[in-house]
Amino acid sequence: MSEALSNRIKSLPVSQTLAMAAKARELKNQGKDIISLSLGEPDFNTPDFIKDSAVEAINQNFNSYTPVDGYVELKEAICTKFKRDNNLTYTPSQIVVSTGAKQSIANVAQVLLNPGDEVLLPAPYWVSYSAIATLCEAKFVEIPSSIDNDFKITPAQLEESITPKTKMIFFNSPNNPSGTIYTEEEYRALAKVLEKYPDIYILSDEIYEHINYGAKPFSFAAIESMFDRTITVNGLAKAFAMTGWRIGFIGAPEWIAKACTKMQGQITSGTNCIAQRAAITAVSADPSKVQYMVDEFRSRRDIVLDLLGKIDGFKLNVPNGAFYIFPDISAFFGKTIRNKEIKNASDFSMLLLEEANVATVTGDAFGAPNCIRMSYAASELQLREAVKRIKEVVS
Ligand code: GLU
Repeated sequence: MSEALSNRIKSLPVSQTLAMAAKARELKNQGKDIISLSLGEPDFNTPDFIKDSAVEAINQNFNSYTPVDGYVELKEAICTKFKRDNNLTYTPSQIVVSTGAKQSIANVAQVLLNPGDEVLLPAPYWVSYSAIATLCEAKFVEIPSSIDNDFKITPAQLEESITPKTKMIFFNSPNNPSGTIYTEEEYRALAKVLEKYPDIYILSDEIYEHINYGAKPFSFAAIESMFDRTITVNGLAKAFAMTGWRIGFIGAPEWIAKACTKMQGQITSGTNCIAQRAAITAVSADPSKVQYMVDEFRSRRDIVLDLLGKIDGFKLNVPNGAFYIFPDISAFFGKTIRNKEIKNASDFSMLLLEEANVATVTGDAFGAPNCIRMSYAASELQLREAVKRIKEVVS
């Protein structure tokens, strides 16, 4: 029967982050003692002051359809946030609230990309970027980087990747999966190249903005020459521990925001009413209110880096943001461990799952085939145990 499915869905890869998380869950349900470092999801509860707003909204009978692009109070609060945190001046007509940043990105891709357009993806990149481009029948073009360069691309590489078909570039800093943060200077150098190509649009995914360890991330749209062709994507999932609430948003040129609203109006309509009311509280809160989570992530990062650094074969960079470690494990390729031949990162990730009961995600999914991704959004106890098990298997 599955033969009847459309070519569109047949050509779409499964999300490797979600697939690994599902596999870990399934094994846990079978009674296996799995430590899942696969999903990028804070292990904290949503802060009480945000939950209280949601309860209040229910009691105030917020239950009707919402405006497709979001409640005006939320869009105003998002404009204030953009000014406060990013020095960006947007008006509510430039904001669209969506069911998660993933939908925000998919909307933007759907309204800007035509079949055959090229989308530049500095690698490593989040798994769904390439899939979303593929869904638009666009071609994604990877710009490689390496751990030796802190997973950053150079202006020269950017320029070499541009062709007459290039329509967009997706930037993501702090980066999932590498944790890399581009400095303002580095962004300005990349923008210098883009200034020569006025028909290229920039999607700047800033979802990990608040999860940084000192180096405050810069917003691409804060570069004056880029503002009119940048779509700034953000959301509440990561910094506010609200992954399941599904609130993402964009700040964009008005004509792009309007097109995204039109797209969303035919697919999902306005985002959930209760989540939006809670989002007003979250977006308006000073980021210092969630700093305790960031501090905890930082301490876990340091522990994992220290422990993994003691295992031969794990090559590490120091991620300055997000909550992932992205070691280069290519030193294991060609080896046989516990009777399993390790040909690539997927084999290594499977080895860790089967022999150490630790779930990670293969770097192939992120355009970095020498690496694996480990989320440290797990308890210190679990992280220590996970690295201990990994060491036992690979040593
Ligand atoms: N963004 C998170 C991750 O990379 C959540 C899963 C997903 O949507 O990919 O793990």
